[in-house]
Amino acid sequence: MWESIQSMCLHVVFILFTILIYQVFFKEREEKRKKIRSKFFLFMLIILVFTMSQPVLYSEIYKYDFKAVAIILSFLYGGKRAGFAAFLALLVTGYFTDQRMLILLGNYTVFCLLLLPVTNMFHRYRIKGKVILISFFYMMIPITRGIFLQLKGDHRQTFFELSSSLIVLATLIAIVYLIENMNEQIEMKQELIRTEKMNVVSQLAASVAHEIRNPMTSVRGFMQLMQKENLTQEQHLYISISIEELDRAQEIINQYLALAKPQTDQYETIDLTSVIQQSIDVMHSYAILNSIHITQQVESSLEIEGLKLEIQQVLINIIKNAIEAIKSEGEIWISAAKNSNGFVSILIKDNGVGMTENQMKKLGSPYYSTKEKGTGLGLTVCHQIVKQMGGQIMIKSELNKGTCFTINLPSKK
Ligand code: ADP
Ligand code: MG
Repeated sequence: MWESIQSMCLHVVFILFTILIYQVFFKEREEKRKKIRSKFFLFMLIILVFTMSQPVLYSEIYKYDFKAVAIILSFLYGGKRAGFAAFLALLVTGYFTDQRMLILLGNYTVFCLLLLPVTNMFHRYRIKGKVILISFFYMMIPITRGIFLQLKGDHRQTFFELSSSLIVLATLIAIVYLIENMNEQIEMKQELIRTEKMNVVSQLAASVAHEIRNPMTSVRGFMQLMQKENLTQEQHLYISISIEELDRAQEIINQYLALAKPQTDQYETIDLTSVIQQSIDVMHSYAILNSIHITQQVESSLEIEGLKLEIQQVLINIIKNAIEAIKSEGEIWISAAKNSNGFVSILIKDNGVGMTENQMKKLGSPYYSTKEKGTGLGLTVCHQIVKQMGGQIMIKSELNKGTCFTINLPSKK
């Protein structure tokens, strides 16, 4: 019996080695999953033929091999077509290796049909779920075979049957782990390349944006000079429109630069109460212009750790959005207080147009804006800044009723 177990282990080594060679040297791209993966199928074929032509003969009639593993893997990682192709290959090999064809055909037809739903489920799970699912599925074979042997009163093989099943199961689990882990690593590598590309692009774009700002400043300066000349009313209008548009372009570039800027600055203790006050002061005239009243209730001596200018930028962006949401005649409530859980909560509430669920979902993704002159970068920058300081922005909104932005920032201990 030990000899039989030894030769089973030989199969294990052969199969693991074959899979490893496939994964390292011949792995096909994921996109090909739809089509039959020919190389993967070829490797399964090698395993199938090897394991069936060298079965472990425990007694005269009973042969043990790993064909179930090859079939399962073909279905799981090669797709349904590869699975059925493997099934045909199994029958052909079975014919040439003197297997009992009827039993083979019957057993494996049922086996393959049951494998179909399992294959569908398999890819929905993470690695642990996959292993559990496939283990339960495989155990079906030794259990039915065990029952069959017991019914026949053949007890001699029980022990060998058990140990060989465990070996096959362990092999199957090892292979699933191997393939899944390697797939994960390949995906991670691709993700890394993608983010690296994005990084380079954003760095280049930032430097280009910076270069554009300088000539724009001088163009703006000359435009302002020209405004002082004796021009017709129409010419004056054109120049002020040009300046306005230049400012808009400048604004977009500034926001974009804030987004792409690598963050290396040192954190400092910020007097949040005064930062909020300053931000409200900055936006005050803009609010008055739109006949909007700002009510505030800010606790004194609120302190956080962070970057002063950035947090001010967050507040100004959100207050500006609130004003723009109201358009004219309305109310903005701003409050800030320390929570019991060590966070400072800043609430900025307006009674403006509000948003639908769908709009809320898109919020904060770059360049999403419903405004004619919007950049759609304001909130993206806000999210990035707040997240970096260990905080969080939460948004509640109701269409035509208003919106409430809550900024939570860790308070200074
Ligand atoms: P922008 O202000 O340039 O459009 P933002 O990123 O600041 O870009 O805002 C994105 C979008 O989110 C806005 O265009 C607007 O549709 C929506 N939004 C933001 N704040 C509010 C608010 N307080 N009320 C209603 N909609 C808002
Ligand atoms: Mg905005």
